[in-house]
Amino acid sequence: MKTYTIDVIAGDGIGQEVMPAAIRAIEAIAVSEEFSVTWRERDWGSERYLADGQMMPSDGLDQLASGDAIFLGAVGAPGIPDHVTLWGLLIPIRRAFLQYINLRPARHLAGVTSQVLGAEELDAVVVRENVEGEYSEIGGRAYDGRPEAMAIQQTVFTRAGVERVSRYAAKLAATRSGRLISATKSNGIIHTGPFWDEIVRETSSEVGGVELESVLIDALAARAVTRPASLDVIVASNLFGDILSDLLSAVSGSIGIAPSANLNPPRDHPSMFEPVHGSAPDIAGMGVANPVGQMWAGAMMLDHLGEPDAARRLEAAFEGALASGVSTRDLGGTASTADFTDAVIDRIT
Ligand code: ATP
Ligand code: MG
Repeated sequence: MKTYTIDVIAGDGIGQEVMPAAIRAIEAIAVSEEFSVTWRERDWGSERYLADGQMMPSDGLDQLASGDAIFLGAVGAPGIPDHVTLWGLLIPIRRAFLQYINLRPARHLAGVTSQVLGAEELDAVVVRENVEGEYSEIGGRAYDGRPEAMAIQQTVFTRAGVERVSRYAAKLAATRSGRLISATKSNGIIHTGPFWDEIVRETSSEVGGVELESVLIDALAARAVTRPASLDVIVASNLFGDILSDLLSAVSGSIGIAPSANLNPPRDHPSMFEPVHGSAPDIAGMGVANPVGQMWAGAMMLDHLGEPDAARRLEAAFEGALASGVSTRDLGGTASTADFTDAVIDRIT
């Protein structure tokens, strides 16, 4: 029997509620798919930060290096600046383990109502560049407090970085409709924009059967809400991909259902799987969080581990529960996190 070692960072807020729900569902599947999981639970996150000034221990990355994957809930809490959670945990993990692909599927699920016309046809994947681009440490501030105060933030695109993300996206597009959309803004961002465009064009043309369309990010954002069905695989920089995937998760019905995979495609290091949503302090502790985003992230993790049958069973179980009318408050239903999870487990066993 295969055994996987998964590092679990449930984190803060509803992370503590949706993580146990997803683990229960995966455990229920593991029995009959003949694999087992050793869950290494890590108490990392905001409480630890408030106690000793660090989101994770100093040797945290070394601890994660030996695992097969990282399963993350959400980190962040009121009163802790967002950049602390981002730079104290998420970005170090993404960079240390070269998780240069952030894969974010946005698909409409039966039983979910969207406010957006045509959202039923939505079935897209955002391939977001995850380790460079706009999220850089290079820059600074000068003349603080004076009228001439200024801040400079450098965007870094490397040829290797753009090539690997666009190659990944083009190959993914080839397994789907063959259409690849590249999000750009080369009319306004005149150095890195055209550089991105050129490399995406070259790299995607090397992958057979892919038709590339470059679309300005502003027009693409509008198109996401006016013609969601016209989208398939989208390749985007760190910033554009972040915004676009949140937008698409909202189009699909709720941010509570969307998953995200931070992948190291060569598999030299562990990859990390998490829901798109955050710690949702407004509903934390109430037992009403939607666990679908965490479960769907769990299905992506099972795929990555080489358990596609288990992944399909997990997806079928939460999709089936939703389609049968069981849903949490964010989707207009009345089910608690535990009720919904029970409905998922019923479909597995
Ligand atoms: P963070 O700082 O951790 O990113 P946030 O408050 O900025 O947290 P989210 O946690 O993503 O952002 O929450 C945005 C909104 O969506 C909140 O109103 C929250 O209650 C709701 N929400 C997010 N995730 C879920 C979920 N799984 N189930 C139900 N509602 C959710
Ligand atoms: Mg947030």
